[in-house]
Amino acid sequence: MKKVFLLAFLFVSSLQSYAQLAGNCGFIATDEFMERTLSNKKNYEKHLSGNRNQMVRYVPINFLVGGKTNKSQVAASAESVLDMLCRLNEVYAVGNIQFYLFGGIKYIYNDAFYENPGIANELFVNPYREITAVDVLIGKKADTPGGGLGVTLGHYNPGKDWIVIKTSEINYSSETFPHELGHYLSLNHPHNGWDADPWDASLHGNPVSITSSPSNPSVAIELANGSNCENSGDFLCDTPADYNLGFGWNNCNYTGGAMDPNGILLNPDENNFMGYFLQCANDYNFSDGQMALVNADLDIRQNVLAVDWTPIATEITGEGSINYPADNEELSFYNNFELSWNLPSGATRSIVEISDNFLFLTTTFYGVKNGNSMWIDSDFLAPNKTYYVRIRPFNDYVTCTSDLEFTSSFKTGLNTSVNTLALDLDWSVFPNPAQSGSAVIVQVEMESTADVVMELLSVSGKILDTRNSTLQAGQNTLELTDDILSAGLYFVRLNTSKGSAVRKLIVQ
Ligand SMILES: [Zn+2]
Repeated sequence: MKKVFLLAFLFVSSLQSYAQLAGNCGFIATDEFMERTLSNKKNYEKHLSGNRNQMVRYVPINFLVGGKTNKSQVAASAESVLDMLCRLNEVYAVGNIQFYLFGGIKYIYNDAFYENPGIANELFVNPYREITAVDVLIGKKADTPGGGLGVTLGHYNPGKDWIVIKTSEINYSSETFPHELGHYLSLNHPHNGWDADPWDASLHGNPVSITSSPSNPSVAIELANGSNCENSGDFLCDTPADYNLGFGWNNCNYTGGAMDPNGILLNPDENNFMGYFLQCANDYNFSDGQMALVNADLDIRQNVLAVDWTPIATEITGEGSINYPADNEELSFYNNFELSWNLPSGATRSIVEISDNFLFLTTTFYGVKNGNSMWIDSDFLAPNKTYYVRIRPFNDYVTCTSDLEFTSSFKTGLNTSVNTLALDLDWSVFPNPAQSGSAVIVQVEMESTADVVMELLSVSGKILDTRNSTLQAGQNTLELTDDILSAGLYFVRLNTSKGSAVRKLIVQ
């Protein structure tokens, strides 16, 4: 590894244009990795396209997104992760492999992890990993422990068996994620052996005169006529010989004139996901042999990965809408209300954004919610101000939903909702904290007879129980619920014709 790094360093410093242009993958195949590739190849014929009759396999991905320790920045928004996963599933559909979110998107607030998760302390990362899912670490940089050539956009670390991707690559149009998943599932670069040493006539000759690959002498030099394709390069015969000709090449048509040891011009597949040609306008694909190989690797990995999973829905249809506040509604108060919406069919989760800017250039609230409502309890909304709500529905599998976003706006009033009612109501919830399993009583002092709706809400704003009562003037006692409440934070809300009031309830 040290030798590789030094060569790479000399190379980059002698050709500065490469250093400026080139982004690449930090993966270099180890001998153990190549053994895995060759082992999978013995078992891949059944997955070649003519033989492929496998049902779709759903592979879980554990996204670990870095954030600053003080939580002021994160390395990737939830939308960008959904977009990236959307592309991945489009790309791998041809091989009957699909990927899903394993337990949502997790954020790790730690400066070192946020800056460079690939070199973060493994003991720190391990508690966040999932044995049954593909661990994907996202940070500002994706450097490898050994350094690399140019700017590392992402890498697969075969020793740790995790993928690292940098912020700039977390989007729909980047090829980095499909590429790194390829490595995870045992694919090599078509230019295997030249990873850190792109062909250079002055160093390697033209025709190539060296007899073993410069970055890894144990890899034979692949010939352009395909005669040694089984045992050289990426060990696949439907990906032509490539001596890392894509690195720094600034278009999608290689005309650099590199010749193999027999003097035959190389004709690399510029549009292959596993190569280093980065200027092909999102027009990339995997070869049939590559798709067969990743399936053969999945045959082994599925003993561990949670692939026995079926999505709750394989598509999301219809349109969502925001129920409350209604579009353009002017509230009489400015906090303590339940934002609620209708999800389109098949959606289970939502990215919720609230902003005081109709282009959402500022962020008042940002979060991912299960279900279709959210309790606005904090004081983050200002009085007498217009806010915009944007909701993107998705589920753990269907994430190509950027065109299903729906929006509305509302204007806050001058009063907090609690204060509005405090004039009329004197009420309490006790005991508080309460013990799980014991009764919780709500006492309400009324000035006159009135109908009251009492609601019990979860911390995420979901209504767990509703009771309608007609309360008399004077002291009234209500039992909160017949259900046994598990430990946690709840809200109790009283609704009358004059408004709502809320109390927190802690159950221990
Ligand atoms: Zn790579």
